[in-house]
Amino acid sequence: MTDLSGKTAFVTAAAQGIGRASVLALAAAGARVVATDINPDALAGLKGDGIETRRLDVLDADAIDRCIAETGPVDILFNCAGVVHGGTILEASDEDLDFAYALNVKAMVRMCRAVLPAMIEKGDGAIVNMASVASSARGVPNRFVYGTTKAAVVGLTKALAADHVAQGVRCNCICPGTVETPSLRERLSAQGDYEATRAAFVARQPIGRIGTPEEIADLVVYLAGATYTTGQAINIDGGWTI
Ligand code: NAD
Repeated sequence: MTDLSGKTAFVTAAAQGIGRASVLALAAAGARVVATDINPDALAGLKGDGIETRRLDVLDADAIDRCIAETGPVDILFNCAGVVHGGTILEASDEDLDFAYALNVKAMVRMCRAVLPAMIEKGDGAIVNMASVASSARGVPNRFVYGTTKAAVVGLTKALAADHVAQGVRCNCICPGTVETPSLRERLSAQGDYEATRAAFVARQPIGRIGTPEEIADLVVYLAGATYTTGQAINIDGGWTI
């Protein structure tokens, strides 16, 4: 089992879904975990040994720098924040693209930039970025903007890993299939027929079910402690990319 005692982990979008499950799993592995989210009310219920909560909007560059300065050196960064835009290229405005790029890519870059100097100084650090199977892993219908930005996450992960591998910093990303989270349930409801849309989402997972946030959180913990793994995009998708 991965032992993260003595490490400080920093998680974005920690109030619900995969971020929340990852906070609990990182803390269970012994880390001090700084759990951040734009929604302080939802964060308030996140309690446990070693867990601290802070409000952070990752779209605010100054707030990122302030939050990292207050946290102190970070050993493990889990960049979880991201937004799903639904639709094809013909249904995506420049504003949709700009917003998704700002949240899914640019904010992630800024988070990495904020934690890297301390990791390099220590000669040790692990960054885990949230990508998706909808990315360079595969094309998914009606996920044009999303897939574009998540492919950028795979690219930035490999570029950062190549630049900093010799300084002890590892950087990997996670490509989930469909995962049971509050935002997934919102997306299913938005389609009108919840049960039919849910059945269609289940059908595209060869394993026959939707994944759980806890299953993704296990991979976050693994990558936080995987000292010989860097620059990888790991699919965790119920067989979607077999
Ligand atoms: P979610 O969408 O249910 O929750 C997202 C959280 O992000 C919320 O707590 C929200 O308050 C927070 N948030 C939104 N904007 C923010 C901002 N500007 N700054 C900080 N926090 C902000 O969570 P989820 O479904 O677990 O998704 C988390 C990540 O996993 C996303 O990057 C998503 O693209 C990715 N992902 C999800 C799935 C899935 O099926 N759920 C699949 C693949 C990848």
